[in-house]
Amino acid sequence: QTTQASQAQLREQLAILHEQYDQLAAKKLDLDLTRGKPGTAQVALSSALDGILGGDYLAADGSDARNYGGLDGLPEARSLFGAMLGMRPEETLVGGNSSLTLMYQVVEFALREGLRGPESAWANHDEAKFLCPVPGYDRHFSICEYFGIDMLPVPLLDSGPDMDEVEALVAADPTIRGIWCVPRFSNPTGCVYSAATVERLARLPQQASSEFIVMWDNAYAVHELYDDAPQLAPISDYARQFDTMDNIFQFGSTSKITFAGAGVAFVGSSERNLATLKAHLAFQTIGPDKVNQLRHVRFLQDPVTIAAHMEHHAALMRPRFEAVLTTLEQELGDGDMGCWTRPRGGYFISFDALPGLAGEIVGLAARIGVKLTPAGATFPYGRDPEDRNIRLSPSFPSLEDVQASVDAFVLCVKIATLQQRLHA
Ligand code: PMP
Repeated sequence: QTTQASQAQLREQLAILHEQYDQLAAKKLDLDLTRGKPGTAQVALSSALDGILGGDYLAADGSDARNYGGLDGLPEARSLFGAMLGMRPEETLVGGNSSLTLMYQVVEFALREGLRGPESAWANHDEAKFLCPVPGYDRHFSICEYFGIDMLPVPLLDSGPDMDEVEALVAADPTIRGIWCVPRFSNPTGCVYSAATVERLARLPQQASSEFIVMWDNAYAVHELYDDAPQLAPISDYARQFDTMDNIFQFGSTSKITFAGAGVAFVGSSERNLATLKAHLAFQTIGPDKVNQLRHVRFLQDPVTIAAHMEHHAALMRPRFEAVLTTLEQELGDGDMGCWTRPRGGYFISFDALPGLAGEIVGLAARIGVKLTPAGATFPYGRDPEDRNIRLSPSFPSLEDVQASVDAFVLCVKIATLQQRLHA
């Protein structure tokens, strides 16, 4: 076992690994596993969007999608995408192409103007803090950082955020205003929140000592890779039961269903919240791109058609995920150099190196032309206190490049780990 290897053996092993590393360096690789971007074949699955209207721009209510208006989106789009969130059409607003924009707008509105009038604006009080399950999605953290909202990390378990800790923190500190959640196939671990966790999150606002919001970013709601992928319990059912719908904002988009750069994004919440939010949005736009919404409704049609479409995505994604997971298993299977998640859907695999090595591994990979998400990116302020988490995103590169990247990755993990052992 390497753990008991003598110094001399370690040096010998390292020399062999360094030789392999130099051989890879000579190949001048240019590989990129950084962002959860769909591959070209994936976006091509939706090319039929282009031209699908065939000159018929009339929405179901007889309105012309080409014209101004309809700040909350086309009725048929609200009903199709609302269903994806477990919300009624009246509780769904369909916007532009980016759910991240909608999240930003909700946070900005709650902070500066207040969901329940100026008195409730977080900015009118001392501080605003958010709970951030870690590892998590860097762009959620950037929104908080941009607005000066303090971020408190809480552990993300296989069942979702550590709810004992979340409940204790929220009950004790009225300046905690919200929590970020990616409840199905979380970015980056791929975990699916358990029904018990969903229920506790839906009840959480009742326990908070101030207006508290749950930012429920269901970006991967329909992105299963396998038939046995865990389902997500609908938070809206619990929220209706606990009367907390005013405190829950659900988000989704078709960025990873149709076109990442030209999809449709939506937000679901209470009718009261949406009315308030709409008044705020009205200062920014007369209405969203309804032509794109109409194209999406004609193309995606209903939940069954969406599921069939997602099968095609899964067929492209599965071999990439399996290339990464099989290689990790074969090369690092004993688990003494790190551990990783085995998601049943979504876009990411989360790898935990031994403490103190994530930055080193990412650096080693960069020097041989393999770009990985910067170490720390999955933590607030880019600071992973243990320097161990690395997010792997295999969707964009070709299968061949995914394999080459993960081969290089495991080599870098081994070098970093053995170097640490040698110097221990
Ligand atoms: N939320 C999560 C969890 C994501 O991973 C991503 C994309 N990486 C987004 C939101 C971005 O969504 P959109 O394209 O709708 O802005």
